[in-house]
Amino acid sequence: MKIIQLNSRPVGVPQLSDFKMINEDRPKLADGEILLKASYISVDPYMRGRMMDAKSYIEPFELNKALVSGIIAEVVESKLEGFSKGDFVSGMLEWKEYQSSKGEGLFKVDSKGAPLSSYLGVLGMTGLTAYLGLTEIGKPKVGETVVVSGAAGAVGSVVGQIAKIKGCRVVGIAGSDEKVEELKSKYGFDAGINYKTTANMTQAIADACPDGVDVYYDNVGGEISDAVMLNVNRFARVIVCGAISMYNETSIPKGPRVQPILIKNSVLMQGFIVSNYMEKFGQAIPQLAKWLQEGKLISTETIVEGFENAPQAFIDLFEGKNKGKMIVKV
Ligand code: NAP
Repeated sequence: MKIIQLNSRPVGVPQLSDFKMINEDRPKLADGEILLKASYISVDPYMRGRMMDAKSYIEPFELNKALVSGIIAEVVESKLEGFSKGDFVSGMLEWKEYQSSKGEGLFKVDSKGAPLSSYLGVLGMTGLTAYLGLTEIGKPKVGETVVVSGAAGAVGSVVGQIAKIKGCRVVGIAGSDEKVEELKSKYGFDAGINYKTTANMTQAIADACPDGVDVYYDNVGGEISDAVMLNVNRFARVIVCGAISMYNETSIPKGPRVQPILIKNSVLMQGFIVSNYMEKFGQAIPQLAKWLQEGKLISTETIVEGFENAPQAFIDLFEGKNKGKMIVKV
């Protein structure tokens, strides 16, 4: 069976040579264990941070060890009570075609209730991030203007749709004309801005938000966010979810200082990690599932076929090659 390991710590943009694939025998099962076969692997921007040997909210990946991410796997053999052959589980698992587990940290998922891959996206970590970041920190009110960066991605596309459900004017920022068009035609955003072709982002945001910005859901950081911050209203809420534009920087980027903006406008700016809200997952998932069922929420996935293509799928996140959630089908 194949295993994908971290070969070297990336400097700047990750390269395929930072990963390596090795072969090993399938694990033999002991009593109290299950044998899992990976079905879908999530590739996520935050994994870039774990590739660095730096202190964070989560341990760094180890060199020459398998990478780890959200995975949906099938139980192919069970010597553990409560798990049967044919069950599907979700959990933080290793990038291995097969692995054994004692069942810790695994959740069973209903393969009939929703497509299995959706438990890595809209009904999984990225959907929860969108919903909980927006509702717990952003607290959008009817008629307010919500701006979302990374708007055509897994988190951003769900944020924008929930903000529409909440009765807001929604403006998305994304990296191609095709993505911007889909924000409006597919997800119902009121306006979109292509940051790659817009010379003056501050003006473009002002034009798209005639009443200013009440909530900014930030997935990208950097210059895009600098421009949004120049358009915030009094008592705006800024949800600092991600900073993908800075993940491959090799030195600490400098930019405008935001403190005077925060003071002048009494702005709340808060970083968060979705796991801060773990106790709310149980109520958030049924809400997301209900909106999906009612057709109020559209889930988009970019599915890359083949276990061995997981490293390239991860690298492609930084080029914006995905629409919605990037997932590898094993
Ligand atoms: P995603 O948005 O589906 O994929 C990443 C997207 O980022 C790409 O499609 C690309 O879209 C955009 N991008 C790449 N490089 C960029 C750059 N230099 N400047 C601006 N945009 C760039 O990924 P996701 O999983 O939904 O995550 C979105 C953000 O949320 C990430 O920053 C991630 O780290 C963060 N996140 C945080 C939490 C948390 O708990 N705080 C949880 C999940 C995710 P374009 O074509 O538009 O450039």
